[in-house]
Amino acid sequence: MLIQKNVSLKPYNSFGIDVSASHFVELTHEWELEELTADETVPTTRLVLGGGSNILFTKNVAALVIKNNMMGIEVAEENEEHVWLQAKAGVVWHELVLYAIDHNLGGIENLALIPGCVGASPMQNIGAYGMEVKDVIDEVACWHWEEKRMMVLRNEDCQFGYRDSIFKQGLKDKVLITSVVFKLNKLHKVNTSYGAIQQQLATMGVSNEPTIKTVANAVIAIRESKLPDPNKIGNAGSFFKNPTISLELFKAIQLHQPNIPAYPANEGVKVPAGWLIEQCGWKGYRDGDAGVHALQALVLVNYGNATGAEMLHLSEKIIESVKEKFGIELEREVNIW
Ligand code: FAD
Ligand code: NAP
Repeated sequence: MLIQKNVSLKPYNSFGIDVSASHFVELTHEWELEELTADETVPTTRLVLGGGSNILFTKNVAALVIKNNMMGIEVAEENEEHVWLQAKAGVVWHELVLYAIDHNLGGIENLALIPGCVGASPMQNIGAYGMEVKDVIDEVACWHWEEKRMMVLRNEDCQFGYRDSIFKQGLKDKVLITSVVFKLNKLHKVNTSYGAIQQQLATMGVSNEPTIKTVANAVIAIRESKLPDPNKIGNAGSFFKNPTISLELFKAIQLHQPNIPAYPANEGVKVPAGWLIEQCGWKGYRDGDAGVHALQALVLVNYGNATGAEMLHLSEKIIESVKEKFGIELEREVNIW
């Protein structure tokens, strides 16, 4: 276990922000955690990193940054209908999706091509195209820094919500997720309820019941057509959550904006944040190297050398203008450090 000092984090975050970590370590095994916790030469403020695709660094990180490289996928249990796959936190998420498809296991195909690692998937309960990972997570194993022990949270303990979980709330910065068990389906029922998937399947000429592989391919095609590739242009996906607003507010906005899109939500109506931002004129905006993506206004982009503070400032201006025009307060989805 090599602890390095003053390490640039530019290669470790998809926004490509150039800040440094005062201390940096890569972990490959669970047993290293005990040793690391006992090490009094490193800061006790810690930041765990997977793929760095959901984080914005606004300053140098005076903390121990832990890059989680624990690898491995194995079958934990199996019956006639299900396979319980245990994946270590460092496994690349999309590789798990491909593994599941190769083994004919359904349940995560709509989540194809989401960047990042398995360990971060429960953090914000990753979701896309009508599916959320909470629906297939069985349990999450993690190391509790203060209690110096492993603990296992069952699905019902994780307090999953829309892009939310106990790991972003009560257990924030208190645990390092080491592995996740997913309960996948041998008998599939694909979910093509999302309009964009149906359109893409039609374009692909698929009219019968599609397979999980076909659905994943449709999702991949949609994502590649409209989302910026972080390897080419810095970004962290959706910068804001899609807000759920009250029916009263929705109706009030609808009087002036009859085309406002909306989807049913638990308590009220879910409105696409990208649409709100676009209506405020931000789509394609650029100031220096900080900008708003030209095809999807929900994605803020770093064209090269923007600082995290500049990206954050841009996000503040967007929040203000959406609040002023619609009375809706956008909430950031990206983790700010
Ligand atoms: P990181 O950015 O490394 O970390 C995110 C947070 O989790 C940080 O707070 C970090 O400290 C914490 N963390 C990471 N690993 C651990 C661990 N092992 N233990 C404890 N804490 C940990 N998200 C979606 O939900 N749906 C999408 O469709 C989607 N599309 C995206 C598209 C693009 C182009 C991009 C760039 C991002 C997208 N995202 C999406 C956001 C992002 O990919 C996900 O949130 C992903 O799960 C982040 O994984 P990561 O490993 O990169 O996490
Ligand atoms: P989109 O398809 O243009 O849709 C925009 C919004 O409409 C989202 O709020 C989405 O909700 C909602 N929506 C669309 N169809 C819906 C349906 N049939 N039922 C319920 N809600 C519906 O969005 P997009 O930006 O291209 O993204 C496509 C999917 O990938 C979305 O699920 C999005 O969340 C996900 N994604 C997430 C990130 C991220 O970083 N978090 C980045 C890119 C894409 P939901 O968001 O709840 O789905």
